[in-house]
Amino acid sequence: MSYPANVTFEGDYIKLNRKIGKIYCRRHRDFEGTIKTVTISKNSDGKYYASVLVDDGLDKPEASTEGKAIGIDLGLTDFAVTSDGSKFDNPRHLAKHQQNLKRKQQKLSRKQKGSNTRKKARRLVAKVHSKISRCREDFLHKLSRKIVNENQVIAVENLNVKGMVKNHKLAKAISDCGWGMFCTMLKYKAEREGKTYVEVDRFFPSSKTCHVCLNQVESLPLDIRNWTCEHCHTNHDRDINASINIRNEALRILSLGTSDTANGGSVRRLGGKISCLLDATPNEIGSPNYIACN
Ligand SMILES: [Zn+2]
Repeated sequence: MSYPANVTFEGDYIKLNRKIGKIYCRRHRDFEGTIKTVTISKNSDGKYYASVLVDDGLDKPEASTEGKAIGIDLGLTDFAVTSDGSKFDNPRHLAKHQQNLKRKQQKLSRKQKGSNTRKKARRLVAKVHSKISRCREDFLHKLSRKIVNENQVIAVENLNVKGMVKNHKLAKAISDCGWGMFCTMLKYKAEREGKTYVEVDRFFPSSKTCHVCLNQVESLPLDIRNWTCEHCHTNHDRDINASINIRNEALRILSLGTSDTANGGSVRRLGGKISCLLDATPNEIGSPNYIACN
């Protein structure tokens, strides 16, 4: 439910309108500026949340590309691997809470339909789900904050998460790790600070290209974590090599600036936002780029 402007905060209370009156709330931060709308939502675990849209009156800073650039390869083994060689482990929240969830789901399934104990059990299941998503969001916020603080240009692959989730085997792991949410966070955090967020087309062969000599290997099964380029003999960590390629590709796109075409692809610049489309190359089986075609 949405409430327009006349919402006020008084100490620890939120006042939605005259009819509802004051409600106790826990605030995460103070707001500066004028409140636009307040949206109240109820989680399945029975908790109410109010998200407050505030206009701080500040213009978005002009995006700049002067400074450190980073490429990020998103994966399942490690959640994120960066072009400067850092690996961030996937916290696997679901796996950790899986046992607990399973137990509570079993309990729920044994309750009689329509009973009060069933209602209670359902709420317990919802509570675990809610805990998992809050843990996940916390991890994503902290990591995106760190990356945006330390870099000026942030490059990721434009992942077709929806397409990948159709691949049933990977679906659970992918929807658990929150790549889409992570990219959204990187994007708005970067834009708010005049930094540049770039998505490289998902068909760009970031894993299979040697970042040193640009030689491309034919295939690179997912279980191969290290490989040696047969052309320049560089030994590559699969994911670090991919993230360096993502960074380099983003810098190439940025250096094209406002020009219309490059390598048969196109680059558009829309008010600081950059979107690009490059030539499609075949799917790489097993990589996060891979989209099952059935
Ligand atoms: Zn090479």
